Amino acid sequence: MADQKTPLTKAFVVEHLDPELGPWSALEYGCIARESHARGARFLLSSVPAELQMPADLAATQGLEVEQRSVEDIFADIKDRVCLLDPAAQVELSPADGENFDVFLFGGILGDDPPRDRTSELRKKGYAGRRLGPKQMTTDTAVRVTRLVVHEKVPLEDISYVDYPEIHVSEHERTEMPFRYVVDAKGQPIMPDGMVDLIKKDADKGVDDLF
Ligand code: SAH
Repeated sequence: MADQKTPLTKAFVVEHLDPELGPWSALEYGCIARESHARGARFLLSSVPAELQMPADLAATQGLEVEQRSVEDIFADIKDRVCLLDPAAQVELSPADGENFDVFLFGGILGDDPPRDRTSELRKKGYAGRRLGPKQMTTDTAVRVTRLVVHEKVPLEDISYVDYPEIHVSEHERTEMPFRYVVDAKGQPIMPDGMVDLIKKDADKGVDDLF
């Protein structure tokens, strides 16, 4: 019988960099876990503080591996097989990177506008870096795009995106999301289940408070 965790199984790792884990992150992480699980990839949420109260829905999500250890500890022996997805990297991710790396690492940071480059916290650990194009993506989008490139061998530039889509939060009000998203077959941005409702619910607070 084949080992379930052969070295060929890719792992997507989000290193959680915030002290809290709010509803926005919970929806993103749940979405990444379900998509990874459905496609036979591992998803680890690392550096989760022991005292952090995981939202119940998220904790129950199939495919989510919660780790208190940091990515450095978990993959210490294969550091050169870890690729950091880094908006400031000099090299774009390509399908060949599926052979170069086994672990794809993302910053568990909410997007911010303008970006504050918190990915630098992971960059300074010395991992090889790859960029997913010039625009900031949400973490679940960055994982989705990485999977399309390294698993499905779709070149970055052949993926259909929408930049800065507007969400109708009420009849007269729209909120622009300052990120790049992958689009579905109908041309709509792919977002985690429940995200549009969360954006609508939080619209009153002003979108800046969300990130
Ligand atoms: N504003 C943030 C970026 C948050 S996006 C910052 O301060 O760095 C969350 C994560 O998604 C990033 O840490 C990175 O791993 C990934 N990501 C988002 N857009 C990307 C891009 N264009 N190229 C490479 N990685 C990206």
